[in-house]
Amino acid sequence: MNAERSDLVVVGAGAAGLFACLSAARVGARVTLVSARPLAETASYWAQGGLAAALAAGDSPQLHLEDTLAAGRGLVRRSAAAVLTAEAPARFHDLEALGVRFDADRRGNVALGLEGGHGVRRVVHAGGSATGRRILRQLSADVAEHPAIDVLEGARAAALATTADGRCAGVRLEDGRVLAARGVLLATGGAAALWSRTTNPPGSFGSGLLLAHAAGAALADLEFAQFHPTAVVGVKGREGFLISEAVRGEGATLHDASGERFVDELAPRDEVARAIFRTLRAQGIPAVSLDMRRVDPDRFPNVVAALRDAGLDPATEPVPVAPASHYVMGGIATDLEGRSGVPGLYAVGECACTGLHGANRLASNSLSECFVFGRRAALRALDEPPPGEPPDVPPAEPVAPAPSRATRKAMWRHAGLERDADGLMPLLEDPHPLARLVARCALFREESRGAHARADFPATDPALDHRHTIVAAGGGEPRLESWQ
Ligand SMILES: Cc1cc2nc3c(=O)[nH]c(=O)nc-3n(C[C@H](O)[C@H](O)[C@H](O)COP(=O)(O)OP(=O)(O)OC[C@H]3O[C@@H](n4cnc5c(N)ncnc54)[C@H](O)[C@@H]3O)c2cc1C
Repeated sequence: MNAERSDLVVVGAGAAGLFACLSAARVGARVTLVSARPLAETASYWAQGGLAAALAAGDSPQLHLEDTLAAGRGLVRRSAAAVLTAEAPARFHDLEALGVRFDADRRGNVALGLEGGHGVRRVVHAGGSATGRRILRQLSADVAEHPAIDVLEGARAAALATTADGRCAGVRLEDGRVLAARGVLLATGGAAALWSRTTNPPGSFGSGLLLAHAAGAALADLEFAQFHPTAVVGVKGREGFLISEAVRGEGATLHDASGERFVDELAPRDEVARAIFRTLRAQGIPAVSLDMRRVDPDRFPNVVAALRDAGLDPATEPVPVAPASHYVMGGIATDLEGRSGVPGLYAVGECACTGLHGANRLASNSLSECFVFGRRAALRALDEPPPGEPPDVPPAEPVAPAPSRATRKAMWRHAGLERDADGLMPLLEDPHPLARLVARCALFREESRGAHARADFPATDPALDHRHTIVAAGGGEPRLESWQ
């Protein structure tokens, strides 16, 4: 069969995929972009907080690196974090050059916000809490207009096509088409929607991880799933709606059932989320209160508008919130140029695991990651040899099925903010392949660290510092690898 050919196939039209397309096209490559869902259903479009880059006079990549290392609790791959923090300012300027209008202060300088875990103000926003939307509109317009980029909307990658010598040579779509390229770059987003209570769009169930694993790539650190502390509870039509960390950076406070504050609102995410989780359990309540009354509503227009639409005015009344699954630090194991273990196969953005986030992602580092590593991988992939003819063998059964309601509920109950062996063991029999893999990794790591809290192993084991959990393709027990 004749495959459609280009230099690079990019799967996923979020921040990572769109920026990768533009980076490759800018150096003369022919690119095919495959996107399963509409733009408004990417996590990138929903991003509120902003993107982190050391831009302030008193800031530096080194300080940004130190905060990233501290948040990641002894598991951050230092070289990946060093790349991110060094290159984030340049990618911010690239976005500005593409026409993204970032928020400015009264003097016309870029306005910098503070978020949990950051020692200084370094988070840039576009349109207040509409950052993701504004960036994505610009990038997608640029992609749509670019003559070297073919966009296949509503097209879902069903499998990767590998040649007899194990090279990834293309992508098979659900409609049977095969796309061949020098490199395939997965930018399929995260897996947080594998849990029932989530801030993520429904498509974020980790399909790219399963496609890559089926093609022979290793996955890493799947036990590290971040729970955002403040997602709305019990407000009709807004269940799970995220209230950005930046709101707490601007002075919003958290209160328990008796109105008392119980946590430092600017502590790293895992600490705030667990403090809320324990307060809910101890007091037998479904939500704590987020008091935003002292926060300027104009700073967060889309948060305020969404809540007001649902009949709740955050300028006058507290918002009921509780943690929800938000971001999976683990993913397709890659090096600092997005290369997976399968030649020709790259992964960037939330579906990848460079080790950058360690055990706990620092807020707003993920959008920066999409741009920094999206560009690196796109350029590196163009060095791959021209593609051979990918074999036309459809997989016997779907490689990356959507999770059922039962799987998502079981993940919330047993692989949530606190796990133990008794809860995780039954997940090993779950029908969904990624649920089983997460459970295996969570059982394997017999310690608590960052976002991974084992009720039966509450201490951090220093012997596991910088040791990442790897699940190779083809089954077998997870193993540990040291990444520097
Ligand atoms: C509510 C919310 C707020 C957030 N706020 C921030 C923030 O302020 N700052 C920050 O840094 N991070 C934030 N994050 C995290 C951040 O938005 C994501 O990590 C990041 O946008 C992921 O981008 P991505 O390009 O990797 O994936 P996504 O934006 O999720 O895009 C994935 C793309 O892959 C496509 N896709 C998936 N599977 C297939 C398939 N099999 N075939 C074809 N296409 C497929 C999807 O349709 C989609 O186009 C937030 C996340 C959420 C949910």
